[in-house]
Amino acid sequence: MRVVLVEPGSVLRKAVARLVEEGGHRVDAFSDSEQALAHVAAQEDVACVLTSLEVAPLCGLELCWSLRALAGTTRPLAVIAMSADRAGRGLGEVLDSGADDFISKPPEPIELHARLRVVERALSLQRQLLRDADTDPLTQLLNRGGFLRRAHDCLAACESGDDLLCALMIDIDRFKAINDRHGHDGGDRVIRAVADLLKETGALAGRLGGEEFAVLMPGHGLGSAGVVAERIRGACARLRVPGRRGPIPVTCSLGLSAFVAGDTVETLLARADGALYAAKAGGRNQVVAETRRQHDRVS
Ligand code: GH3
Ligand code: MG
Ligand code: MG
Repeated sequence: MRVVLVEPGSVLRKAVARLVEEGGHRVDAFSDSEQALAHVAAQEDVACVLTSLEVAPLCGLELCWSLRALAGTTRPLAVIAMSADRAGRGLGEVLDSGADDFISKPPEPIELHARLRVVERALSLQRQLLRDADTDPLTQLLNRGGFLRRAHDCLAACESGDDLLCALMIDIDRFKAINDRHGHDGGDRVIRAVADLLKETGALAGRLGGEEFAVLMPGHGLGSAGVVAERIRGACARLRVPGRRGPIPVTCSLGLSAFVAGDTVETLLARADGALYAAKAGGRNQVVAETRRQHDRVS
């Protein structure tokens, strides 16, 4: 894993850096705690910070606090505090400041390597939990929360009304009838088959709930997004999902909206949903793009 080491003494810094590398990790070493913090903020793949408590300009406890705040609830980041003065510091205060672990300075090689392995185990579990929290277990697509979080990031990157971005809402037609005729397991297979088609587009796709999906397409205006949407519609209509009484016919209705300056994820998806409603009302198995009037009504 990628480790940031913060230690003001150059001899010890080099010695500990070598030790960490011998454990199979990549090390970025700093003497200045503020520079180390900026580096961790900029490099998302830094997974562990091993910091002496005797650092400046941010003191060790301040650095631990800042790292914990930076990691928040979404970035797996472990902090190991290192000090020669274990008794004087108050281990409780160090851990309460955001450190996950403490090691004496200079660290014993065997102990340091073992603690870094503990960190790797904990981080791997944390990553798995974060992945699971955002994943729909039936389809392995993003679930509603995971999709909306990424959609917010995607819209935040659209700084002007000139940035192209389209949203697509997809709903399986007459799905209740599919469940009734082919059972819940047949319905589940249809949901998975539609999800697999969406994965093939490579776009940001999520299952918002039931038999309803959303896709975000950065770089697409209504024209090219409409082509993608039509391809999805056609592929759904060609699906032959095995059912209790032969292949299950599947069709989907799709609604499309395009980002305009001032849009939020909610307004953009609400317009795609309005277009989807029009696709249902228009007879299903079709793609409808938002009209100017729909846009005016929502914004
Ligand atoms: P429309 O064409 O208007 O969309 O009709 P519909 O029958 O698809 O619409 P509706 O949204 O009323 O029905 C959705 C059904 O999907 C209701 C619910 O029982 C079912 N459903 C929701 N989640 C799941 C799921 O995970 N698996 C299965 N098999 N069915 C689900
Ligand atoms: Mg439906
Ligand atoms: Mg529905």
